[in-house]
Amino acid sequence: STAFRGKRYAVLGLARSGRATVDALLTSGAEVVAWDSNEDAREALVRNAELSFADPLETDLTGFAGVVVSPGVPLNRHPIAAHAAKFGVPVIGDIELFAQGRAELPPHKVVGITGTNGKSTTTALVHHILQSSGVPTMMGGNIGLPILGQEPLPTGGVYVLELSSYQIDLTFSLDCDVAVLLNITPDHLDRYDGFDGYAASKARLFAMQSTGHPAIRGTTPTLDQFNWAALQGPHNAQNAAAAIAVCKALGLTEAQIETGLQTYPGLPHRMERIRERDGVLYVNDSKATNATSTAPALAAYSQILWILGGQAKSDDLDACAPYFDHVKTAFAIGRDGPMLANILRDQMPVVHCVTLDVAVHRASMAAHPGDTVLLSPACASFDQFTDFEARGDAFRALVEAL
Ligand code: ADP
Repeated sequence: STAFRGKRYAVLGLARSGRATVDALLTSGAEVVAWDSNEDAREALVRNAELSFADPLETDLTGFAGVVVSPGVPLNRHPIAAHAAKFGVPVIGDIELFAQGRAELPPHKVVGITGTNGKSTTTALVHHILQSSGVPTMMGGNIGLPILGQEPLPTGGVYVLELSSYQIDLTFSLDCDVAVLLNITPDHLDRYDGFDGYAASKARLFAMQSTGHPAIRGTTPTLDQFNWAALQGPHNAQNAAAAIAVCKALGLTEAQIETGLQTYPGLPHRMERIRERDGVLYVNDSKATNATSTAPALAAYSQILWILGGQAKSDDLDACAPYFDHVKTAFAIGRDGPMLANILRDQMPVVHCVTLDVAVHRASMAAHPGDTVLLSPACASFDQFTDFEARGDAFRALVEAL
């Protein structure tokens, strides 16, 4: 690619996508000033005559084509926005660079998927349906590998991009062939000027489209149509409906879509079915780190043995309350297990377990055929695990060893 030849960019933040960005820019002939306050992150880059290291905040940005930042940088508070603006230089993300380089890619389509919840599921589902239909496809954005680090798709390929609002804020010329807004509820308000600011960020995904492309909203078809193993619960019916609409817009047949839905394996840690043992289903929903995320899992099953707890983000479980009657017994673990047990005590039997392995064993002994042992903690994991993935992996290992 020569899209960036002779241009100069600053890249701030050298984690995985930052490093892929630097490599892609250098490969296409750009000059790069890279920075990360962490020296190890700087060391990880291969030295090159076109690459230098300097903090963009202390750099004269005259003539730069852009400052590329990671979506993790809070633009409303970080001084880079004002500094770049002084030189009239745009602050962009890797998705914007991808958009600018599209003219050089073989003919292709781009699907952009945003929304407060369900982005990863819908993105992975669209990607899977395309893949199972034999369409060359790649996931990028908030999911999968850094988009700039990949070999371009052959002619007819479809790039499926999961876009957080932070990523959209760093993107200015992405003309999606299909753009999806799944849903929008208050979130991330620390980085936006209220709900309207957050909504305006998402709306820009459509504003960037050239006319003539369909805008698609997920409408929920009747639930009895939905019986795909890895897509349980009303929230997944919405995600599936959105994915179906996208795939139709891309020209897939109903048969192709149905096959893809049936064979979708699901994402790890999101209502992931681990195994069925003696008629008892074991489900890993470790990604649910607050009550709002746990609610759909409780909604999706009945006769639940519910393992919850960890580091609570709030002192209530109100979002889950409508589904308390789906729960037979709760098994509380972690730092805030006792607090959660207090909330639940009047609603259901609660067993204090402290650790996940005790909870899995107690729950498996209490379970009867038709029950579901569900890890959906409604809490962060950091009191006992490095992250929600480690917690989910531990659950999987315990269940497989039963
Ligand atoms: P995201 O990538 O937007 O965070 P995921 O697909 O990873 O979304 O799902 C994360 C959690 O969000 C799920 O475990 C579920 O609790 C909830 N969720 C998923 N889809 C929806 C939806 N359509 N509506 C409401 N909540 C949802």
